[in-house]
Amino acid sequence: MIKTLRLLLGDQLNYKHTWFLQKPDPNIIYLMMELRSETDYAKHHAIKIQAFFAAMRSFANHFSQNGFNFIYLKLDDTENQQDFAKNINALIAKHQIEKLEILEPDEYRLDEYFKQFSKKLQIPYQCFSTEHFMAKRNELEMMFGQKDRYLMENFYRRMRAQHNVLMDGKKPVNGKWNFDTENRKKLPNKHPVPQALLFQNDVRDIKKMLINCDIEHLGAYQNTIGYPITRNQALEQLDYFCENLLLHFGDYQDAMSDQEEYIYHSRLSFALNTKILSPKEVIDAAITSFEKNKDMISYAQLEGFVRQILGWREFMRCFYWTFMPGFAYENFFNNETKLPQFYWNANTKMNCMHHCIKNSLDNAYAHHIQRLMVTGNFALLAGVDPSEVDQWYLGIYIDAIEWVEITNTRGMSQWSDGGGLATKPYVSSANYINKMSNYCKSCHYDHKLKYGKKACPFNSLYWAFLDKHQEKLSNNQRMSMIYRVWAKMDTLEQEKILEQAQEYLKELDAL
Ligand code: FAD
Ligand code: SF4
Repeated sequence: MIKTLRLLLGDQLNYKHTWFLQKPDPNIIYLMMELRSETDYAKHHAIKIQAFFAAMRSFANHFSQNGFNFIYLKLDDTENQQDFAKNINALIAKHQIEKLEILEPDEYRLDEYFKQFSKKLQIPYQCFSTEHFMAKRNELEMMFGQKDRYLMENFYRRMRAQHNVLMDGKKPVNGKWNFDTENRKKLPNKHPVPQALLFQNDVRDIKKMLINCDIEHLGAYQNTIGYPITRNQALEQLDYFCENLLLHFGDYQDAMSDQEEYIYHSRLSFALNTKILSPKEVIDAAITSFEKNKDMISYAQLEGFVRQILGWREFMRCFYWTFMPGFAYENFFNNETKLPQFYWNANTKMNCMHHCIKNSLDNAYAHHIQRLMVTGNFALLAGVDPSEVDQWYLGIYIDAIEWVEITNTRGMSQWSDGGGLATKPYVSSANYINKMSNYCKSCHYDHKLKYGKKACPFNSLYWAFLDKHQEKLSNNQRMSMIYRVWAKMDTLEQEKILEQAQEYLKELDAL
C-alpha cells in the first residue's frame, strides 16, 4: 500500500466524509495544523480563533480515538514551522510519504497556494471534494451561461428543482417559490424569545496558548465557547433550532432589539462553515420538523430558512468562484474613507451602531440585518473603502470565511461590484432601522430629524449618498422612485441635508 498523507484544513471538519467512512488504514496519516499564517492573515476575533482550534482539536481527537492515524500540530508545538508547505515537506520526509491528498480549499488564497505547492511536489498529489456543498463551484455558469450578473432568486429556484426540495412535482410547494413578504416583522414588546442554547466548551488551554504566542486579535479571549464545536453539539444546536426557533424564524428574521442578541436565528453558521454540519442535513432536519409540527409552524418560516441555506449560502459560494480573484478589488463607488474608530470599540452615540458593534465584539456574532442594514449600511453611506470593510467583517465574525464573507460584504452590502450580485444597494435612512428595531427609542439622535444637532446621521448620509451617486444609480429601475422623491424635495431642504451630511462626514469618529 502507498503511504499517504491526507491534509485537512480548519474549515474541513466533515465528520461524514468518505475518508472517514472507511476502516482506518495504517498507511494513511491525517494531518491537521494550527498555523501562524492562518491566525495572522487577518485580525480575527479571539472567539473565532479559539472556536476554530477547539473544533479542529475535537475533530482530530474523535477520529484518533476511532483508530485513525492523526498528526495534529498545535500552534506552539516546537516542530511546527507555521507554514503549510514547510510542515508538509518535513512530514513527507520523516514518514516516507508517497502521496499527498488534500480536500478542495474553499478560499481562493489557499486554493492557489496548493495549486502552486503541488507543482513543486516530488510525489503524486490529488485533490478531493469536501463533499459538503450542494452546488458545484461553477454551477452558475452551468445553469445560466457566462454573465456579468446573476440573480439569487433564479439560482434558488433551479436548486430547489434540481434537489427536489419543497417541490410538488415541477411546481413549488404551495404554489409560490418565495414567501419573504410574509416575514419581516418587528419584534413585539415583551415578546418572550427562547433562550439561546449556549454550550460551555472549556477553551482555557487554547486561551493560554494564544496569549503566550501573542496573537494579534479582536475582542477578548474566553474561558468557554458557547458555539457548537463537536458533531454532537452541532446536531443538538440543529435540534434546538428546529424545536424552538424555526417557529418564528421567518417572522422575526429582520427584527433587531437592544434586549436580544440572537432572536430566532439559528447560530448554525459556524457549524455549517466548518462543515461539521452539511447544508443537506440542516435542510432535511428543518423540513422534518415542519412536517411534524405543521399545526404550529407556518410554511413561510420553513421556506425562509431553506432559502438562506439552499439559496443564499450556495449562491454566495458559486458567485465567489465565478468572480474571484477580480471581485476582491471591486470598488464601484471609488470609496476611500477609513473605517471609523468606533467599529473597533463600539464607542458611538448612534445606538443602533453601538448595539450591533458591541454584540459583534462581545460574541463574534451579529445577525444578517444587523450586518447588512446597520454596520454595512453605515459604512456604505459614509463612503468607507470596501477593503477596510472587508477586513473588519472577515475578522470579527465567528463564521467569517472569505467565500461567504467577501460576497456578502463587498457584493451585497457595499455594492462594490455595481450590481453583479444585488440588484440595488442596501442603503436606508433611519426609517428602516426604526421600523425594524427599538434602537431609536433610546438613541442620542432623533430618527425623525435630517439636520440639526440631534439629527440621525443615517438620514442626511442617506440622501447625500443618493445625491453623490445619482449618475451611477438613477438609471437603476429599483432606485427610480427614491430619486423622484429627492428631485421633488425643496432645494433649500436639500441644501440643509447635504450640509449636515458634510459636517458628519468630516468628523465620523465623533458620531
Ligand atoms: P440564520 O439567520 O439562522 O440563517 C441560517 C443560515 O443561513 C446561516 O447559518 C447561514 O449559513 C445561512 N445564511 C443566511 N444568510 C446568508 C447569506 N447572506 N449568505 C450566506 N449564508 C447565509 N455569513 C457567514 O456565514 N459568514 C460570513 O462571513 C458572513 N458575512 C456577512 C457579512 C455581511 C456584511 C452580511 C450582510 C452578511 C454576512 N453573512 C455571513 C450572512 C449572514 O449574516 C450570516 O450567515 C448569519 O448572520 C449567521 O447567523 P445564523 O447562523 O444565526 O444565521
Ligand atoms: Fe440609529 Fe439613527 Fe435610530 Fe439612533 S436614531 S438608533 S443612529 S437609526
